[in-house]
Amino acid sequence: MKLATFLDGATPELGIVTGDRIVSLSRAAPRLATDMMDLIRRWDEAEGEARRIAGAGAGASRPLSEVRLTAPIRRPGKIMAMGLNYADHIEEAGLGTPDNQIWFSKAASAANGPFDPIQRPKVSSQLDYEAELVAVIGTGGRHIARDGAAKAVFGYCAGNDVSVRDWQLRTSQWVIGKSFDTHAPFGPWITTADEVGDPHALSIRALVNGEVRQDSNTCNLVFSVWDQVAVLSDAMTLEPGDVIYTGTPGGVGMAMKPPRFLQNGDRVRVEIETLGAIENAVVDEA
Ligand code: ZN
Repeated sequence: MKLATFLDGATPELGIVTGDRIVSLSRAAPRLATDMMDLIRRWDEAEGEARRIAGAGAGASRPLSEVRLTAPIRRPGKIMAMGLNYADHIEEAGLGTPDNQIWFSKAASAANGPFDPIQRPKVSSQLDYEAELVAVIGTGGRHIARDGAAKAVFGYCAGNDVSVRDWQLRTSQWVIGKSFDTHAPFGPWITTADEVGDPHALSIRALVNGEVRQDSNTCNLVFSVWDQVAVLSDAMTLEPGDVIYTGTPGGVGMAMKPPRFLQNGDRVRVEIETLGAIENAVVDEA
């Protein structure tokens, strides 16, 4: 199932996407869940009803183009992200394959919609993109074993780990350069894990103004999604709706010779097989 959060008026609604149409779960079953995090939390009891509405939804559905999709989870509890997790990106960064998983967080306030603008900050001209598979935690928990990790993931999205390179790299901690407002767009919806199958077999691309900059496959992840869930959950409780950016392949703007950073008016698209595409315009911060 493809689960979206959208705006049709002032209040965000939950929706189910089928093809190029969307049906409002919030209108069909107002008591099912208040928002996506709530829906994920209650999924065991809510799934049957959601599937029934999706199946019967043809009459009540509308063209997707008539609504505005927002971040599937508008304010995640946490956004964790992995550095250096594709061999070609490690090489272009001039580094070696890390022995340990490199984790940083992106501020939850950086969450952004799949088609909303990305701010090019006043304080930097080194704005960059990173196409990433995003995993959304379902049941979550602590000390999740690697072979049980698949059950802890609710679904997947396409994401852009937007990065402000000078702010990221002028200190040893990357968090501030990864946490600017609007710099965590993801979506366009959550594709539930049952529809994705193996998340380590998906083509992934980033395009800037239609030019392919990153072109890889999630089979090239150094640490798999399962490895990531296992290690993260050894440290912290993973909660329903937590968001994990799983790393980016080679081809980021910083590594080009000369570097090609994002400019006002650029359009950045991240596409992942089965999951769909997000596309954000770059707009200078007012
Ligand atoms: Zn990244």
